[in-house]
Amino acid sequence: MAESATIKETQELLAKLVGFDTTSAKSNLDLIAFVQDYLDRNAVASTLVPSADGQKASLYATIGDGKGGIGLSGHSDCVPVTGQNWTSDPFTLTKRDGKLYGRGTCDMKGFIACVLASVPLFKAQELKEPVHIIISYDEEVGCAGVRPLLARLGEDLPQPRAVIVGEPTSMRVIDGHKRIDVYRTTVTGKEAHSSLPAIGVNAISVAAKLVDEIDRVAAEIAATENDPRYEPPYSTVSVGMIDGGTAPNIVPKTCELRWQVRSLPSADADEFPSKLAAFAAKSLLPEMRKVAPAANVETESQTSVPAFSAAPQSDAVALAMALTGANRTSGVSYATEAGLFEQAGCPAVVCGPGDIAQAHAADEFVSIAQLEACLKFLADLTERLRA
Ligand SMILES: [Zn+2]
Repeated sequence: MAESATIKETQELLAKLVGFDTTSAKSNLDLIAFVQDYLDRNAVASTLVPSADGQKASLYATIGDGKGGIGLSGHSDCVPVTGQNWTSDPFTLTKRDGKLYGRGTCDMKGFIACVLASVPLFKAQELKEPVHIIISYDEEVGCAGVRPLLARLGEDLPQPRAVIVGEPTSMRVIDGHKRIDVYRTTVTGKEAHSSLPAIGVNAISVAAKLVDEIDRVAAEIAATENDPRYEPPYSTVSVGMIDGGTAPNIVPKTCELRWQVRSLPSADADEFPSKLAAFAAKSLLPEMRKVAPAANVETESQTSVPAFSAAPQSDAVALAMALTGANRTSGVSYATEAGLFEQAGCPAVVCGPGDIAQAHAADEFVSIAQLEACLKFLADLTERLRA
C-alpha cells in the first residue's frame, strides 16, 4: 500500500498557503508562484492560465503519462475577513485543539495542501493514468477564474476523465448542488421635490414592491418544490442588497436591488427574472409611466453558476465512493466548480476535507482528522492508479 503523505508536511504547506492573502479581490500570483516552485522542486512541470488583466492565474500540472486521468481541483481564492472577529490572525495558521485555524483552511487550501503534500507519492509510483492538479482563482466570485482554463481542456491542456473538486464536504461524496444566479434590478423613476411627490416616481417605493413580490414568489416556490436531497429542499430566492436615493427631501429617481436565486438542479432558473418582469409590466410600469414615460424596471444577470447533477453512472462519483467507502451520496445547497467541469465534458464529484459550516466564517478551521482522511483518500487513489 502507498503510505500517505504526513500531516506534518501538509501542515507546513497549509501554513504557507494560508500566509498568502488571496481574498478574491487580490492577486493570487504569489501563491501560484509558490505552488509552481514547489512542483518544480518535485520535477513536475505546470502551465499557468493568466486572467485577462494578468493579476491572477490558474495552474494546471500533470503527473504521469497517458490519456484521461484524474483531476484534483481546488480554488486558491478565499472570502474577505472584513468585519469578522477572529481569535488569531486569519493569515497565520494557528493550531488549537486538533484544529488548524486560518482563512481558507477549510475552503479550500486544506485540500490543496493535501494534494501538494501527496505529489512525492504520485511521483514515486508508475501510474497507469495521470493525476492532474488544477488550481483556479475567483471561485468565490461566480466561479469566474476556472472558465478560461476549462476552455483549453482537450486543446493544449489534457482533459481528465474524472475530476474531484475538493470543496469541504467532510469527505462525504456530493453528486449534486444547486445553481446560483445573481441579478441586478434597476428601477428608474422620476426625481421630484419631496413636497410634491405626486409629480415624481419614487424608485425606492417601486423597489419595495419588487422586494415584496420576490418574497412572495420565494414563499410560493418553498411551498411547491420538495427535493429532500437538498437543505432546504426547494429553490430559494432572496434580496441581498438595496441602494437608492440621495436625500430625505428628494423623491428618488433610481433604486437598485441585488438578489440571488439558488435553484434545484431540476428547476427552471430562468423563470424567476421573467416572472419579476411580468409582475413589473402588469402591476408597476403602467402607473409609473403615467407620470414618467421613461420610467423603467430592468433586470440583468450578473453571475450564473450552473447546477451540478452527476450522471447516474458517473465515473467520478463511483471513484469517490470507492475511495471513501461511502455507500451513499448527497446533494448540497452551495455551488462549486463541479457543474462547470461537467459542462466541459469532465465527469465531476465534490469531496474534500473540512465542514462547510466553518467556510467563510470567522475562526475558519479544518480539523487535523479531516486532513488525515483526505491524505488517506489520495494515497488510496495513488494505489488505484498504480500500473
Ligand atoms: Zn470553496
